[in-house]
Amino acid sequence: MMKSDIEIAQAAEANELPIKDVAAKLGLTEADLQQYGSDKAKINWPAIQKFEKNGHLGKLILVTSISPTPAGEGKSTMTIGLGDAINNQLHKKAFIALREPSMGPVFGMKGGAAGGGYAQVIPMEDINLHFTGDMHALTSAIDNLAALVDNYIYQGNEIGLDPEKIVIKRGLDVNDRTLRKITIGQGSKFNGVERPASFQLTVGHELMAILCLSKDIADLKHRIGEILVGYTTEDKPVFVKDLGFQGAIAALLSTALKPNLVQTLEHTPAFVHGGPFANIAHGNNSIISTNLALHLSDYVLSEAGFGSDLGGQKFLDFVSTKLEKKPDAAVMVATVRALKYQAEKSTDHLKEENLDSLKEGFANLQRHMANVASYGIPLLVVINKFPTDTPAELDLLKKLINGEGHPCEVVTAHDEGSKGAVKAAETLVKLADASDYDLVPSYNEDDDLKTKVEKVAKRIYHAGQVEYTEKAEKQLARLQKMGKDKLPVIIAKTQYSFSDNAKELGAPTDFTLHVKSISLRNGAGFVVVSTGHILDMPGLPKHPAALDIDVDDNGKISGLF
Ligand code: ADP
Repeated sequence: MMKSDIEIAQAAEANELPIKDVAAKLGLTEADLQQYGSDKAKINWPAIQKFEKNGHLGKLILVTSISPTPAGEGKSTMTIGLGDAINNQLHKKAFIALREPSMGPVFGMKGGAAGGGYAQVIPMEDINLHFTGDMHALTSAIDNLAALVDNYIYQGNEIGLDPEKIVIKRGLDVNDRTLRKITIGQGSKFNGVERPASFQLTVGHELMAILCLSKDIADLKHRIGEILVGYTTEDKPVFVKDLGFQGAIAALLSTALKPNLVQTLEHTPAFVHGGPFANIAHGNNSIISTNLALHLSDYVLSEAGFGSDLGGQKFLDFVSTKLEKKPDAAVMVATVRALKYQAEKSTDHLKEENLDSLKEGFANLQRHMANVASYGIPLLVVINKFPTDTPAELDLLKKLINGEGHPCEVVTAHDEGSKGAVKAAETLVKLADASDYDLVPSYNEDDDLKTKVEKVAKRIYHAGQVEYTEKAEKQLARLQKMGKDKLPVIIAKTQYSFSDNAKELGAPTDFTLHVKSISLRNGAGFVVVSTGHILDMPGLPKHPAALDIDVDDNGKISGLF
């Protein structure tokens, strides 16, 4: 039987290079690094500033996928396998840029996020748990900001903040549904001003988005100052800069803003930095790490969260406008299993060959391919091969993909490492090298909010119409009054469906997209539009992944996958 992800990663530890050696191959000296043990390092500011000016920009590749299912798609695994193949099989300089895992899914539903099999980033236990402390720094920053605001109200509240109109939330990197709605300041008046409050997952908080979008510390501080705290009793907006907390919060995040360098099992360099989810946030690793990787190498693979309707759309419409260049090519990851799941809606029979289910489920991939191609970007589809895929299924899927006019390769990097991704890497490098296109965004910068939402809803989700609740309309009116209704939109939506109903699999059309609320993320520079029943604080399932995690007397961790 094949070893588990963590067993493979632990067995490879002996083979791991000191991170300073990985850095040296990139032209970084030990003085350029802030090392965390021997296998992880942050890059120091003088080095970032030096390489930013080197005049070199590699090719940028966006990795996205079909809609996620419990069958597993393996997007990180494919990103890492392709990076390893470009590096070690084609002998070109590749760099991988991933997000940092959140402990919410690691302990909850999904498990780790460091790839799988022989295509992983290491040290996987660290990356999945505390890593270099960025998530903790963010959580501290989020909760210190909230505490400073509540203390401000308690200590006299000169500005007249209305305790009922505070919009910033507290945060934790823990799936804890009990904290979605709470009351703070209960008891005597010495416990602060009583008011309703709530927690959200750290990865969905505006400070995470700011960490991922800031170019440097000055930008970080400026953006923190721009965060909307709430409104006064006269409905006047109050920003962090009005209260003067931006310096302290930026100080808490200044180290976290530096990219984290690690390596794959095959020693390809990887930045694992920033971790916003793509369903409740913008879903892409930090701008700073992608830009730096572009300066340090020739091919950068950046993975966007969930399906192309979420992380992919947000990358192409929003993140790429913040990067030093637009992506040159995109990779769409699909699996036979997941496409069959799209039709069968159950994992019970995925091991059995079923060409009819595959054909029916293909509708999901077809939609994702057409959507990404509509941006004009060259697209490669990779089929992440699972041991249960039959030759007839792989054959059929390849034919269906080629029938849509896209190149397609089967990748076996999970079982074989870079050797299993050679042909895909060759095709990808060719696509990226020959890339010459104009990116056609989903919406124009100066469209108003409703137009932007409608354009994404119709072009990407294939909705028939968009409906707003009364609450959302009121929130929009307030944004219009503030002149903030033309910012980019980040739509929060279930990852499982193109629609806002997680149960509608495949490629639904002509449905209504229900906008429930609209919130300004003034520091991040976008507006979050929440649809359906999406929650910014998930809960844990009945059998959380935590039940399988353990540690032995020597500190060796097991059960992370
Ligand atoms: P995603 O990035 O889409 O969430 P990952 O790359 O993190 O997916 O993979 C999720 C899990 O699926 C990992 O445990 C990984 O080992 C497993 N996996 C991925 N690809 C394969 C494959 N081809 N065969 C078997 N297991 C796989």
